[in-house]
Amino acid sequence: MAKMIVAGNWKMNASKETVAALLKGLKQGALAVKNAQLVVFPPFPYLAQTQIELADTRIAIGVQNICAADNGAYTGEVSLAMAKEFGVSYVLVGHSERRALYAEGDAQVALKFMATQAMQITPILCVGETLEQREQGLTISVVTGQIQAVIDAAGGASFANAVVAYEPVWAIGTGLTASPAQAQEVHQAIRAHLERVAPEQAAGLKILYGGSVTASSAQELFAQADIDGGLVGGASLQADSFLAIGQAAK
Ligand code: PEP
Repeated sequence: MAKMIVAGNWKMNASKETVAALLKGLKQGALAVKNAQLVVFPPFPYLAQTQIELADTRIAIGVQNICAADNGAYTGEVSLAMAKEFGVSYVLVGHSERRALYAEGDAQVALKFMATQAMQITPILCVGETLEQREQGLTISVVTGQIQAVIDAAGGASFANAVVAYEPVWAIGTGLTASPAQAQEVHQAIRAHLERVAPEQAAGLKILYGGSVTASSAQELFAQADIDGGLVGGASLQADSFLAIGQAAK
């Protein structure tokens, strides 16, 4: 398996036309990305289109959110079984936009994490501090607290089949990026935290950095010892910029 993962979160940005153009560009350029597993996270209505277009590529598909329940009276929700029918192999859980805009707390995030694993799909657990928390010196405790909430519910061993994305909230969609040293400090702390409860899983855990990653910032970020790829929002909407980030993986 590729050492790094470069994941593109399209958020709620798509139309049939833009998705067709983006997937075409990704298909054409993906072979030049040698050292990263590319993953795209389209909005739900474009999953079928994405699955068909990417069928002959090594690009994986994820979803941005999921319902932890199996099926039933959950108006507006989408289940893991449905996502799986469209070739989904990753699910974002706990993205800061879900935590902030839809009041998803640690308990709900943990439920989604466990339900995803139960379907043999890999959760990408997103964690990160707000600017206020960083300024108060709370970054490491906030981030490790978010990880610990999942460890409490699912156990440390569950991280054998999980990815973590460190995304400082103040860096998402703002054009601000954590410096490579700031990001590395938090990534190292996340690994060290897991090491204490699940030493066997800690070394192999992939920890992605997210927050305004661009082709020009990716290289130095990806060179850090504990950064294993990126979760990319804005720059994943154009094939060229997303592929260039993929090529920054060494
Ligand atoms: C994200 O959506 O997870 C993200 C990191 O977005 P952006 O790259 O636009 O900051």
